[in-house]
Amino acid sequence: MDVDQNSLEVMTAIQAAIQAFALCERIRGDLAGGESLLKSDRSPVTIADYGSQALICKFIRERFPSDAIVAEEDSRELRRPGRSRILEQVTDYVNAFIPASSSEEVCSWIDFGSNSVAGRFWALDPIDGTKGFLRGDQYAIALALVEKGMVKLGILACPNLYADVRHPSGEKGCLFLAVKGKGSFQMDRTGVNKRPIFVSKTRSPSEAVMTESVEPDHADHLTHQRLAWKLNIPKPSLRMDSQAKYGILARGEVTLYLRVPSPAEPGYKENIWDHAAGSIIAEEAGGRVTDVMGRPLDFSSGIKMEKNRGILVTNGILHEAVLKALEM
Ligand code: AMP
Ligand code: MG
Repeated sequence: MDVDQNSLEVMTAIQAAIQAFALCERIRGDLAGGESLLKSDRSPVTIADYGSQALICKFIRERFPSDAIVAEEDSRELRRPGRSRILEQVTDYVNAFIPASSSEEVCSWIDFGSNSVAGRFWALDPIDGTKGFLRGDQYAIALALVEKGMVKLGILACPNLYADVRHPSGEKGCLFLAVKGKGSFQMDRTGVNKRPIFVSKTRSPSEAVMTESVEPDHADHLTHQRLAWKLNIPKPSLRMDSQAKYGILARGEVTLYLRVPSPAEPGYKENIWDHAAGSIIAEEAGGRVTDVMGRPLDFSSGIKMEKNRGILVTNGILHEAVLKALEM
């Protein structure tokens, strides 16, 4: 069944993403202020991950009680006695959005998420680009609705991404939304000012810009560089954390996003929550998304995209040329 732009699914996804956006930014603000959170350990990201997942899962479960949610975290670790301080902090942050929620409730909301895909399910990455979050760079909250292996809607909240390409040092934070068959949109951080976005129409590799992961363990930068040389792409690649890469491709800022598995882990299988939301946002903006062999992405087998290797996203026009260059 197709999802309508004004459906409860879309409204729920937007509201959930806006709340998680605000929660994560509050934690990041405390982190930058050096107050209660230490940057040297992983606690800030842990708190933000859990808090974001609790808020989003609660929202979805309330409105769609029979939908499965496939999400990265569960509360097992959080419930251990040694983690009580973290649980307390997660609960405090969640309380700012859902007053009077107890630690037990917060844990139970986190655990609405599971590891099993279903005929219809939501795929959630409560914080995509953990390392970017900690560095003060890009990260995203990524939520998608998948039905029979097809992504029906996707939303990416990118709290630290410049809203206007022409003013990269200007206002930070935006949302990307796509609904199957209805296009892709960018919105302000509060969900207003919705405008359609489109991939670039670049035909010439000389004008193309590639984007790739910041982390060398997540992608094979050398192979990417070789491919750029082969295709005569002179511009340096734009390194960015998280699915924000899909967003900047969808709004025409870059032309291709390549993710060849890193030599550190050549057999790596991608997680569905790392690509479900981003892929529909790129496709509905006119782009094309496959793995590096040209196969469609597999969102139906399980949490891992077992049938795929790496990721290739382009403006569509350059897709075949890149696939061909990857073969050689
Ligand atoms: P990015 O910010 O694009 O580098 O991607 C972040 C995501 O990479 C995380 O959410 C992880 O799930 C995922 N990841 C972790 N290890 C690897 C790996 N060896 N290769 C590719 N992606 C990975
Ligand atoms: Mg992720």
